[in-house]
Amino acid sequence: MRTLFKGTVVHGQNGNTYKIIKLISQGTGQGDIYKVINARKEVFAFKLFHSGTKDFNQRLIERLMRRGQVCEAFVTPLDIVEVDDRIGYIMEYIGLEYVSAAVLCNGIEKNGIIVNLPWGLKLALLARIVESFIILSNANLGIIDIKFDNIKLDLNNCQIKILDTDTIIHVNDKASVRGTVSFMPPDVMTKRKAPDKDNDSFAIPTIIFMSLYGSHPLDGKRRLLPCNENIDMYLFGTHPVYVFNPTDSSNRPLPQDEFGRNQQQTIDKHKKYPDYLKKAMEAVFVDGLYDSRKRPSMSDWLDILERLYNDSFVCENCGEEHFLDTKDKICGVCKQELLKPIFIQSDKAVPLFNGMTIYSDDIWATTAHYEVFKVVPTKYDGRMGLQLMILDRANLKLAGGDVKTFVNGEAIPIFLDSEIEIESHNIKFI
Ligand SMILES: [Zn+2]
Repeated sequence: MRTLFKGTVVHGQNGNTYKIIKLISQGTGQGDIYKVINARKEVFAFKLFHSGTKDFNQRLIERLMRRGQVCEAFVTPLDIVEVDDRIGYIMEYIGLEYVSAAVLCNGIEKNGIIVNLPWGLKLALLARIVESFIILSNANLGIIDIKFDNIKLDLNNCQIKILDTDTIIHVNDKASVRGTVSFMPPDVMTKRKAPDKDNDSFAIPTIIFMSLYGSHPLDGKRRLLPCNENIDMYLFGTHPVYVFNPTDSSNRPLPQDEFGRNQQQTIDKHKKYPDYLKKAMEAVFVDGLYDSRKRPSMSDWLDILERLYNDSFVCENCGEEHFLDTKDKICGVCKQELLKPIFIQSDKAVPLFNGMTIYSDDIWATTAHYEVFKVVPTKYDGRMGLQLMILDRANLKLAGGDVKTFVNGEAIPIFLDSEIEIESHNIKFI
């Protein structure tokens, strides 16, 4: 296919002209992508198809344009362009502030070393991705070619963009595009089944797994087996086995293999990740491998991501995630002492973080919702304290038996072996 030169002017069907600035990517997927400007010097991207008949592509793009933009995260065609008997479309230009979502799995370079994205940011970005797919499925649309490179992230603003709009299909339409191998369910990989909206319920957890564990859920030590077929087809298509399959250990992650992969991180993370995450992954990669109905829904994944955030804290030294129920005294990654948050416990327990507000229904079995404490520094040698918010008074019972009364607005210092009496409630620290 002929590449369009810089300066070439192309004409949109709605009367606008666009000048080619440069080729952004060549031959990926079904077409080339160019950076272009219109007569008002506004920057856009222009995708020019390689294949497909003109009529087919024209209808595809028209339908996507009519459908409009269901969600800000999806990049939608704005104008149709015909060049050299080929069809293409104009879309929003995704600038350099956006990086491939592969950074969720691979990390980013910082001062010459590769570091993981901060845990909280990673969960927030994954939640953004899942939210976009909830909107998409509510609009009865599916994407059949989800992969890291089709999702772009603005790490500074926690924004996402989902590309390759021509692969957004109406779920009742026949699929026309083949997705990327390792994000497709096995039956689609082996072509026993055409790609359809059920791809999402497999691809999204694959992205979540790879982001959290740092490797692919079906890519373990079976990669080392002598094999007569393409090894990717074997692992992801014909003989898929979840690396943490509870009854089949034949594909466990390998600490170091001859491909230079090191899956020790995957093994370590699995040890500490909570059961609800493991169960959800098993529902996809064991029970739901061939049966999409057994896979968690997008809203289930959103709940799981929120729960992971609420149940975790990060090592103050290296940023590694840990879970509040951990028995570890040392961070497994940096080997420094692990400073676990202190919990306040009454009917319920919640971890204390500086600046947070604790509401009545956070700690008591009540439906009343009012501010009880704010976590603040106290005048007692930098110790954290609980500032009394709505209620008038509270008693602090020290370990030696002394009792001191605090009134509204005062901060009660936290001693791990003390107790607080407030109204009819007793509060402990754990
Ligand atoms: Zn650490």
